[in-house]
Amino acid sequence: ASYLPASAAGDFGAGAQVIVQIEDRTRDKALLQTRSDFVANASHELRTPLASILGYIETLQGHARDDPEARELFLGIMMTQASRMKRLVDDLMSLSRIEMNAHVRPEARIDLYATASDSAAALYPLASRNDVLLQIELPQDGAGAEVFGDHDQLAQVMVNLIDNAIKYGGSGKKVRVAAAEPDTRYPGCLGVSVIDEGPGIAREHIPRLTERFFRVNPSQSKDMGGTGLGLAITKHILARHQGAVDIRSRVGEGSRFTLWIPRAPEAADDAADGEEPH
Ligand code: ADP
Repeated sequence: ASYLPASAAGDFGAGAQVIVQIEDRTRDKALLQTRSDFVANASHELRTPLASILGYIETLQGHARDDPEARELFLGIMMTQASRMKRLVDDLMSLSRIEMNAHVRPEARIDLYATASDSAAALYPLASRNDVLLQIELPQDGAGAEVFGDHDQLAQVMVNLIDNAIKYGGSGKKVRVAAAEPDTRYPGCLGVSVIDEGPGIAREHIPRLTERFFRVNPSQSKDMGGTGLGLAITKHILARHQGAVDIRSRVGEGSRFTLWIPRAPEAADDAADGEEPH
């Protein structure tokens, strides 16, 4: 707690008002803890591939120097590890940029279904490489599907969700990207769902999925090139849009990730709001 010492009141004479400010620092402490956990996790995530690269450099400078086969193999591994570090740094920078702009509301009118559809279409090649059938079921006319948004950030959310559905859904399966039915829990919002036929997620893990670096199966995520930050980034982007990500899943029955964003009022309504009363 911070407060004005009693003697300070005395300086202003009798009848002076003393402002006593009592703050609850519990939240500050929790925030500091979260920050320091985050730095520790991020450092650990970067340190592991870095240590591996350093190890291979040493080997290449030593006994593998004149072995062309080993050189090729080790260079390949170093490339994989360095790419992993680059993805992590890119995601960390993304997170910090989004946090910096968290209080700036996006003002551009965006056709949500068209943005979702374009982002999904860009992932057809990834889907086919993974033997996944990607189905896009979004209305094409765009009528009334506008939100106030940041186009690149919303595209990033779609890519994160669809990329996960392809990765974790499993090969030979289907991934659907569809307009969500209106939901009373998200009144006045537009929704887009990404639905997979994968193994699903246990109930106790669902609330933790949007935590930074939380993974249900860390080695599986890392093998697939995951950074553990995609859903944390998704959550922050949607918060900035005053929206949310809703996760429904049952083990053995696949998962449905739905992004919800408040619908922008019709452009005609905006104009009407600005008119002088007659
Ligand atoms: P990652 O880089 O590990 O994919 P994310 O933040 O995108 O990080 O996701 C966090 C974790 O949530 C993943 O590691 C995975 O365990 C789980 N997850 C995300 N999407 C799905 C999905 N469609 N099906 C099953 N598990 C998922």
